[in-house]
Amino acid sequence: MNANPITLRCGRARIHLLSDGVAYWDGGGAFGLVPRVRWMNLLPPDDLNRVPQELRCVLIEADGKRILVDCGVGDKPNDLIATQYDVRRPHGTLLDDLARRGLRPADIDIVILTHLHGDHAGWATTLDAHTRPIGEAAASAHDPAPTFTNARYYVQRQEYVDATHPNERTRNTYFAENFVPLMRHGVLTMLDGEAQITASVRVVPTPGHTAGHQSVIVESTSTDETAPPVFLIGDMAPFMIHFERLPWVTAYDVLPMVTIETKRRWQGWAFERGAALISCHDTRHPVGRLARNDRGLFSVIPLETGGAAE
Ligand SMILES: [Zn+2]
Repeated sequence: MNANPITLRCGRARIHLLSDGVAYWDGGGAFGLVPRVRWMNLLPPDDLNRVPQELRCVLIEADGKRILVDCGVGDKPNDLIATQYDVRRPHGTLLDDLARRGLRPADIDIVILTHLHGDHAGWATTLDAHTRPIGEAAASAHDPAPTFTNARYYVQRQEYVDATHPNERTRNTYFAENFVPLMRHGVLTMLDGEAQITASVRVVPTPGHTAGHQSVIVESTSTDETAPPVFLIGDMAPFMIHFERLPWVTAYDVLPMVTIETKRRWQGWAFERGAALISCHDTRHPVGRLARNDRGLFSVIPLETGGAAE
């Protein structure tokens, strides 16, 4: 078992934090223009200047559906992320984490991808034939197929276009085998902006990290209960510190000034609504809430998941 399985509630929805492991990537990538001396005390790097990044995925049980948000680095051997970077999985993969909750890939109804980078779309497809339903053609070594065989997948159209037309800078972050098969199998829905996925789950465009990046909001639908929303911010702010501090933007962001404006807007929304924030890569503060400190600046208060969790 993971040391701290975390489950949040929002009205009748249940939100479970899962993981595909922890990646050790260069701190310069995570913190971009922020000098190392500013971030190294907050997140001490190892001898190779790498910092741990959780490969967090989230399972939302809401409106009678099981919804997976993002799906780690996956298992495809050609994936640069899995082979060139150090990914550690002391508790196994995302599929092991689902299995611990009694779920098979076929039990997932909906997969929402915040964006198509290799650390978020890995398990969208797999080469592993054992996930195929009996009677269907098995995936072959050259033909990855959707891992979640009964799921509809959702991504922003802009993201799919950019991922299938990478440039010199983005080429090593997008791996076609993670998402092109979704289109071929007819399971991908491309969205143009904000969209209601189920009664209590919607996606909102949060551009900057990529132009087509989206975040996920879970809101209570009960009229007799005003639970604060749960906000899966994705790589708009991979660590909580990025959500606090507008100029802290990763080196991977293709539109850094847009990221800053996106964060400014959603900081205000999250503060007003008292949203519970879920980070996709922060190993130490997976869940938090925005508060204003003495100087009027935003800071993320780690949520006592002991209290919020079931
Ligand atoms: Zn990421």
